[in-house]
Amino acid sequence: MQERDFYEERPETKTHMLMCPHCNQENEYQLNWLTRRKKQRLPPNADAKDRAQFEKARSYMLRRDDVVGCKNIRCRKRFEVAGIQSVAFVQDVPNDSMENRIARLKANFDRRAGEGTKRVN
Ligand SMILES: [Zn+2]
Repeated sequence: MQERDFYEERPETKTHMLMCPHCNQENEYQLNWLTRRKKQRLPPNADAKDRAQFEKARSYMLRRDDVVGCKNIRCRKRFEVAGIQSVAFVQDVPNDSMENRIARLKANFDRRAGEGTKRVN
């Protein structure tokens, strides 16, 4: 089993603000990324080694564009993408929703506790 078997691959585009080093003009650029989201569970043919690797695996994104063409029509030069990491970790969805749920529960609890105090007074 290979690392890529742990992930669902999907191409994505994201908008980034980039400044051209030739003309110093800042513009929005669409960059291509490849998102590798960790699967919910391993395929059934996984062995113990695969499972150990899968445990450690995290969703991430790979930037596929290294060079963009300047949008300034008086410049139009190509420049390297700088200041944006080439690999970015992605929050896994189940973790994310669990954290949100805890935060929501806590907010509800705090509100209820506040109302209780008001009623007593
Ligand atoms: Zn430029």
